[in-house]
Amino acid sequence: MTTQAAPITNAPTLEEFLPGGPLAPAADNRIELVGMDKAELAAVLAPLGLPAFRAKQIYRWMYVNGATSFEQMTDLGKELRAKLETHFRIGRPRISAHQVSEDGTQKWLLAYGDGNEAETVFIPDEGRGTLCVSSQVGCTLTCTFCHTGTQRLVRNLTAGEILSQVMLARDALDGWPSPAADRDLTNIVLMGMGEPLYNTDAVVKAMKLAMDGDGISISRRRITLSTSGVVPEIARIGRELNCGLAISLHAVTDELRNKIVPINRKYPLEQLIQACRNYPGLSNARRITWEYVMLKGVNDSDADARALLRLIEGIPSKINLIPFNPWPGSPYECSDPKRIEAFANIIWNAGYSSPVRTPRGRDILAACGQLKSASERIGKRERDRMEAVRLEKEAAAGL
Ligand code: SAH
Ligand code: SF4
Repeated sequence: MTTQAAPITNAPTLEEFLPGGPLAPAADNRIELVGMDKAELAAVLAPLGLPAFRAKQIYRWMYVNGATSFEQMTDLGKELRAKLETHFRIGRPRISAHQVSEDGTQKWLLAYGDGNEAETVFIPDEGRGTLCVSSQVGCTLTCTFCHTGTQRLVRNLTAGEILSQVMLARDALDGWPSPAADRDLTNIVLMGMGEPLYNTDAVVKAMKLAMDGDGISISRRRITLSTSGVVPEIARIGRELNCGLAISLHAVTDELRNKIVPINRKYPLEQLIQACRNYPGLSNARRITWEYVMLKGVNDSDADARALLRLIEGIPSKINLIPFNPWPGSPYECSDPKRIEAFANIIWNAGYSSPVRTPRGRDILAACGQLKSASERIGKRERDRMEAVRLEKEAAAGL
C-alpha cells in the first residue's frame, strides 16, 4: 500500500486557472509529469536518487489529490519539494475560454503549450456527469456533417494533454480528493474533437491512467470511446481498455456511408460489423452504442431503420439517434421531429432502446460535432476553402 496522502485544503479555485493565472504554463523546460504512469514517474525520479515509494507518493498526490505543485506535497521534506519544483512541473492546459450553457453544460477551450487548442465539454445529467474529451486538435477525417472535420489544423494530443482535460474538469467541478460517490464528473466519453483510434497509443495510456484504482479511479464501465470505424484498432481497445464502445454508424449502406463517413471506403460496413461482433464482454448489460445522426432526406427513411436492424442483428446494441446539429455553412438539415419519432419507433418495436439524444449546450456550440473554436458565419469563399481542405485531407488519409 502507498502512504495515505493528506487531503488538500487549499485546492485552487477556477479563477486561478484563468489565462495568465498562476498556473499558466511556465516558460521553462521543466519536465511535465501529467500523463506519466507509475513506471515512467519512477524512471524520471530515479536520477534524483528517489526510491520507488517516493514515486508512488507523488503519483497519488497528482492523481488522487490533484496537486499542481510540489509545495502541496506535505509528506515530502521541504528541500526535496524545492528540488522537485526546479526539475518538474504538474501542469494544466491554459483555459482560453470557458462557457456555461443555460442547461448547465460547460465548455472549456484549452490551449496547450504550442498554442494549439482543443475543447472539452461537461454535461451534467440526473445522477451523473459526463465529460466529453477530445483526442486530437481537429480531425484528419472529413465526415461531411461534422464541423470538427472542416478544421485544417490537426495534431494528435499527448496522453498528458488528454488526461489533463479530465484533471482540469475535476479541479473546476469536484475538487480533489473526491470519493467516487460524491463526484460530479462520473463518466468520460471520447466524443470530442478528433478520431480517438487515429491516436490510439495516447488514448489508451490516458484512459488507463483515468481508470487506475490507485489514481483517478473512473471505472472502465463509465468510459465510452466513440469511433468512426478504424476497424483494426477496435480489437486493441477491447483487449487493452475494454471500455464501452460507440460506433458512428450514420448510414446502413456502403454507398451512402462512403460519402458521409469517408473512412468507410477503407473499412467497409461488413468489416466494421464483424469487429463489433468480436468486441469482448458484450452482453445485455454491456452493449455497443450505434450513433446515428438524423439527416433530413439522406438516411432517415423507414427502410433505413429496417436496414439498420438487419445490420446489427444478434449484437447486443443500443441505438443513439442524434438530431443533426447544423453549423454555419453545413450542407444538411436535421430530420423533422415526426420523422425521427417514426424512425425511433421502428427500432423501439424491434426491442432496442433508441433514445433520441437531447442536444446539450447548443447556446455555447458545445453539442455533438460542433466543437470548433470559431463559430463564424461561412460565406462562399469559406465553403470553397472547406471543400479544398476536405479533398486535401482525404488524399492525405489515403481514402
Ligand atoms: N471521431 C469520433 C468521435 C467524435 S464525434 C467519431 O466520429 O465517432 C462524436 C459524435 O458526434 C459522432 O457520432 C459524430 O458522428 C457526431 N457528430 C458529428 N457532427 C455532428 C453534427 N453536426 N450533428 C450531430 N452529431 C454529429
Ligand atoms: Fe472526425 Fe468524428 Fe467528425 Fe468524422 S465525426 S470528422 S471522425 S470528429
